[in-house]
Amino acid sequence: MTNTVPKILIVGGGYAGFYTAWKLEKLLRKGEADVTVVDPLPYMTYQPFLPEVAAGSIEARHSVVALRRHLKRSTVIAGKVTGIQHADKVATITPVAGEAYQVEYDQIVVTAGAVSRTFPIPGIADNAIGLKTIEEAVAIRDRLMSNFDKASTLPAGPERDRLLTVVVVGGGFAGIEVFAELRSLASSLIKFYPQLTFEDTHFHLVEAMGRIMPEVSLKTSEWVLKDLAKRGANVHLDTQVTGAVDGNIELSTGETIPSDLIIWTAGVMANPTVVRGSDLPVEERGRIRTRPDLRVGTDEEFVEGAWAAGDVSAVPDLTGGGVGGYCVPNAQHAVRQGKLMAKNITAVLRGELPKDYVHKNLGAVAGLGLYNGVFQSGNIALKGLVAWVAHRGYHGLAMPTWERKFRVVWGWWNNLWLGRDIVNLSTVQNPRYVFEEFAARPRPAQPAVTPPAEPREQGKIADQPEKVEADKEAAAAR
Ligand SMILES: Cc1cc2nc3c(=O)[nH]c(=O)nc-3n(C[C@H](O)[C@H](O)[C@H](O)COP(=O)(O)OP(=O)(O)OC[C@H]3O[C@@H](n4cnc5c(N)ncnc54)[C@H](O)[C@@H]3O)c2cc1C
Repeated sequence: MTNTVPKILIVGGGYAGFYTAWKLEKLLRKGEADVTVVDPLPYMTYQPFLPEVAAGSIEARHSVVALRRHLKRSTVIAGKVTGIQHADKVATITPVAGEAYQVEYDQIVVTAGAVSRTFPIPGIADNAIGLKTIEEAVAIRDRLMSNFDKASTLPAGPERDRLLTVVVVGGGFAGIEVFAELRSLASSLIKFYPQLTFEDTHFHLVEAMGRIMPEVSLKTSEWVLKDLAKRGANVHLDTQVTGAVDGNIELSTGETIPSDLIIWTAGVMANPTVVRGSDLPVEERGRIRTRPDLRVGTDEEFVEGAWAAGDVSAVPDLTGGGVGGYCVPNAQHAVRQGKLMAKNITAVLRGELPKDYVHKNLGAVAGLGLYNGVFQSGNIALKGLVAWVAHRGYHGLAMPTWERKFRVVWGWWNNLWLGRDIVNLSTVQNPRYVFEEFAARPRPAQPAVTPPAEPREQGKIADQPEKVEADKEAAAAR
């Protein structure tokens, strides 16, 4: 007997994908559909926490949600979807181990998110790091802390300056948050390094536009600029990075900033692997063309059995508040679209009509380092400590699952009394270094002892009695 239970394939278990699967598990009746989630990572990443992870205010593992622990009725596959042939309702999965294979589905949900968008600037691809994954956040923290250790052993000079210089490219929310959080971390590290002073640390933010944080009002963004300046940070507005070869950041102003930590946060683009590898319709900016009801397609025509949400999709913003008429790529939308997606798929499976996605932007809240933040909703703006409390309150509650909320909030509580955790575990990248240094190894093979070609002269051996004994001992040891 063939299995006639509809198969729902979710491509990506991030914000939108995780919430779609989580909600489907609650909505679907037993045997109503099979849900499979494919993601190369075993967790959903709470990306708004990445700046705080980089600053050591949140433990890295606490800011991700294990898919297998919380998606109990779905099948989770560790791999990438590398092709979608929707005309045949077949997807290609490239698992993290083993050969690629194809699976059939009835409904596909494309929620593969976005990746850092870069430009072909010399040196950026090789020397910079993005901030879209937990691995990047951990690496940024490790680099800054290792550089403090290195710098503390060097005399003042260009190399020490380079190690203590951080450059962030992109003055959007993510860029400003990580910049301010790292400034806060660096300031708090100084007291542990008597060899270094605050003046030895250098922070530069480079933004191509004439302002930062387009999500908040100009007045609020100017307050952030003043606040950063007070904390010794340099912001280069109307400036572009033109090169980053050998760790030398070249700016369009002609300035050169040598730096060992270059963080690129200048925009995102819809996941190219999934978008290019599929036959689903794509709009001008490379996102999957999506309708307000989250089905793939246009107002006139939808693609049966195909859905998309989150950063990979272009969902029309029916409130009129979006950029170019579409929802901006943020978690606020991805979460809500994921939840509606589950409801709409369930409705369609039951022969009902899906509903349109409508969500009015709630505003924006950002952490700017310990005890400092900014919040804007309409004309209301909060700054400093009260905004920081709002930031932690909002994100503490928004973190999915009580298990994860508890870990994050508990960590904050501990830090409040115990201080920021400044342990640097960057050697985890080379975990065998001590073991390898002292591990006993087989001795290299000794050359075979060849008998002398010529008969020895009489009396020669008797002339070297110690050598004979030494040779005998060496042979015994072998
Ligand atoms: C530093 C930072 C701070 C942010 N702060 C905020 C904030 O304060 N407020 C806010 O609203 N938004 C914020 N955002 C934006 C928000 O996090 C994203 O908009 C949101 O994560 C988008 O959700 P998504 O589900 O579309 O993609 P993601 O959450 O990125 O999930 C995509 C998933 O797809 C997986 N995937 C990738 N390729 C494949 C493949 N080929 N096959 C299968 N799976 C694949 C990925 O591993 C990932 O798990 C922030 C983002 C960053 C980077």
